[in-house]
Amino acid sequence: MSAADPRREARELVAAARAWLEECAEDGLESIPTTAPQPAEPAPVADTGREVLETPPPPGQAGLLDEAPAWPATPTLEEVRGTLGECTRCGLCQGRTQIVFGDGNPEADLMFVGEGPGEQEDRRGIPFCGRAGELLTRMIEGGLEIPRSQVYICNIVKCRPPRNRTPLPDEVSACRPFLDGQIAAVRPRAIVALGKPATSLLLGRDVAISRVRGQWHEYRGIPVMPTFHPAFILRQYTQENRRLVWQDLKAALARTREG
Ligand code: SF4
Repeated sequence: MSAADPRREARELVAAARAWLEECAEDGLESIPTTAPQPAEPAPVADTGREVLETPPPPGQAGLLDEAPAWPATPTLEEVRGTLGECTRCGLCQGRTQIVFGDGNPEADLMFVGEGPGEQEDRRGIPFCGRAGELLTRMIEGGLEIPRSQVYICNIVKCRPPRNRTPLPDEVSACRPFLDGQIAAVRPRAIVALGKPATSLLLGRDVAISRVRGQWHEYRGIPVMPTFHPAFILRQYTQENRRLVWQDLKAALARTREG
């Protein structure tokens, strides 16, 4: 038996480490953890100066699965927004400037679902209007050659998580019925899930976006195409990542145009 090739082993180790680092970046990790992960806690809102929700929301406000609105088969977006109201169903209401509901064509064939509003979105009340949003807009208008106003864009949670952290499970549970209401109202022919949290929610399991992107899935009978979040593309601005997203978006648009 021939001895292992140390150079090949080194190349494989580097490739594995690079893949892991990309997954970390995709998950929003800014640095490599050196200790075992601790239970997640709401982080202070250092960048806004607003008071932080230190304790879980009072009973009855965290996760309203039992009280989730029952939408008619085809609600209107106005009905869904009206039912949402000045929502305090989860702790994210404490730090928001305003609810960021959704943007675009109420009868869009193509719908984009992201994770949650960032700083710019929270300030302006429009989803995907910061740097990542500008990239998404360029991909839609420059790449797909359709006006952004022709698609519908929203997020899993409608209020900005502190420091743009990933929404907690109870926050996702509380807000999810309204995403479902938006999907039922718009009835898109295809959904593009932007990034891991949106994809994991719509697929009903924790996924690695790099493994599921580019393949068709389904949510409530609607085709779902997972792809990288534009914020990830900004961090990992490689030709290959841009090519993959472009490929996914083209496939999604083509799906909406199938007879
Ligand atoms: S994130 Fe959703 S459920 Fe939570 S307060 Fe905002 S609108 Fe309500």
